Amino acid sequence: AKAAGRDRWAVFDEAMREEAVRILDLEADLRRAINGDGFVAFYQPIVRLGDRGLIGHEALLRWHHDQRGLLLPNEFIGVGADSGLIEEVDWLLYAQVVEELARGGEGYISVNVSPRHFRSSDFADRLLRMIDRAGADPHRLRIEITEVALLDDVPRALRMLRTLRSHGVLAQLDDFGTGFSALSYLHRFPIECLKIDQSFVAGLVGETQPESVAVVRAIQALAGTLGIHTIGEGVENEAQRTALRELGCTYGQGYLFGHPAERVQVRPLQVVTR
Ligand code: C2E
Ligand code: CA
Ligand code: CA
Ligand code: CA
Repeated sequence: AKAAGRDRWAVFDEAMREEAVRILDLEADLRRAINGDGFVAFYQPIVRLGDRGLIGHEALLRWHHDQRGLLLPNEFIGVGADSGLIEEVDWLLYAQVVEELARGGEGYISVNVSPRHFRSSDFADRLLRMIDRAGADPHRLRIEITEVALLDDVPRALRMLRTLRSHGVLAQLDDFGTGFSALSYLHRFPIECLKIDQSFVAGLVGETQPESVAVVRAIQALAGTLGIHTIGEGVENEAQRTALRELGCTYGQGYLFGHPAERVQVRPLQVVTR
């Protein structure tokens, strides 16, 4: 039994070693890739739940890795977290997005902003300069932030959001319902939209229905009080779309309306009459 135990440890050790090597490899690759063109923005449509009319897109980061293929953020975002590498990657993505906006088209594009950006004092200025240089319309760019980023340093977050907003860049609160949801703070921030986390949208059908309905109802009540709209995330089926609509949610995003793709959707989506 003792030998078997040792073997198990040996296997565990080996697995940990491999994981460590994988992460180191990826970090080295990440550093190299920043100077290349491996990072691309994928765009996922955001629509009105009622008629599926297109209102905008969310830009989502993808990495075309030479050996590993197309990587999703959760496969590498943790890797550069300590070194600030991901923030550099974000700027590459924002540059692509403002170029896309400068090409024309309609609707907004939202980008994800990590809490770390919020801690740097020149984030807003740098973003506004980038928009300006690209000749993009700032009103068509939105930022998505989480509550953590807001509550970390409230005065700084307020300053940043006000600066951006005064230039036309609106903010929407991401993954809403999963964080502190510190309601007492929320009314102080200039927030345009709440994005209802996909876990609650997924829960709207099936066993967890009562709990998810209760959460979404609470979020809708809050949004109503603040006079802002909501976007349901991760809408995958008709039942979820209908449930969200009935609960008062205006907009939606998810595979039901479109997967993230390398091009922004240009034509209006199919209109459903119902
Ligand atoms: P998020 O901001 O909550 O983005 C939504 C995620 O849900 C995306 O995953 C999207 O592909 C996925 N999704 C969309 N519709 C559906 C659906 O119907 N069903 C399901 N199951 N999933 C759906 P993705 O692209 O893998 O991104 C994961 C997370 O990585 C994002 O979560 C965001 O927090 C982060 N992220 C993505 N792009 C960036 C970026 O450019 N910069 C930074 N800092 N973070 C990013
Ligand atoms: Ca997001
Ligand atoms: Ca989200
Ligand atoms: Ca998320």
